[in-house]
Amino acid sequence: MIKTDSHLHSWFSGDSDTPMEEMILSGIRSGLDSVCFTEHFDPDFPEAEDPGDFTLDFDAYEEEYLRLKKKYEDRIEILHGVEVGVQPHLARTCREFYEEYGDRYDFIIHSTHVVDRLDPYYGAYFASYSDPKKAVRNYFEVMLENLHTFDHYQTVAHLDYICRYEPLPRTPFHYEEYGEVIDPILEHIISRDKCLEVNTAGWKYGMEDPNPNRQILKRYFELGGRKITIGSDGHKPEHLAYDFSRLSPFLREIGFDRYIYFRKKEPCQIILQ
Ligand SMILES: [Zn+2]
Ligand SMILES: [Zn+2]
Repeated sequence: MIKTDSHLHSWFSGDSDTPMEEMILSGIRSGLDSVCFTEHFDPDFPEAEDPGDFTLDFDAYEEEYLRLKKKYEDRIEILHGVEVGVQPHLARTCREFYEEYGDRYDFIIHSTHVVDRLDPYYGAYFASYSDPKKAVRNYFEVMLENLHTFDHYQTVAHLDYICRYEPLPRTPFHYEEYGEVIDPILEHIISRDKCLEVNTAGWKYGMEDPNPNRQILKRYFELGGRKITIGSDGHKPEHLAYDFSRLSPFLREIGFDRYIYFRKKEPCQIILQ
């Protein structure tokens, strides 16, 4: 059983109402050894998209984190992370964030949520394209640009995030159709010695696979990628460690024999049982 969850949110994120302590108690109930909070920091999130606030109160977050880390230190390890939503024009903002706050985090996740001022989570992104395949392709092209924009991270989150939101009827996503834009991302991750995240929210959304899907994970492995992190992306207590019992056999079948979590940005390797 996988006993660490390295991607979760609480009410310090604009899209969660859950007190941090409830997530921790859920982690203890689920038998986890370690949880890493990764609150959203999505600078310049387009206002028209959502009333949620995706800026982050770094100090309030740290204060509560330290209080609860101490309170539960005998029961579970609690780590301090952040999920940075990158956009190509935010190089300076991301650099300034890292210079000012980067040191305090155990773990930094690189995410692409907003493309061309639209988050595919909302319908307007796909509606702006006559061909949904072009919309998907563009997402991957922007993600690669974002990886060059901000390099101070340990893992790349939910690589096929875009596929969660393809308009219905949901066509099965085939790696082959997008290989030429996905391979450069995987090669970049490997060459920079970063990790690829396996995010079980795909299963939560009723998809066949986690994010990224089996085909992309196989391709990553084939290209030499071995470093993966694992997270549920839970925003509610019941979503913490979501479907983790399915994950170990799924990953071992592809060839992975271990995963990584980070403490003070140093990798801790865990063998998949
Ligand atoms: Zn995300
Ligand atoms: Zn997240």
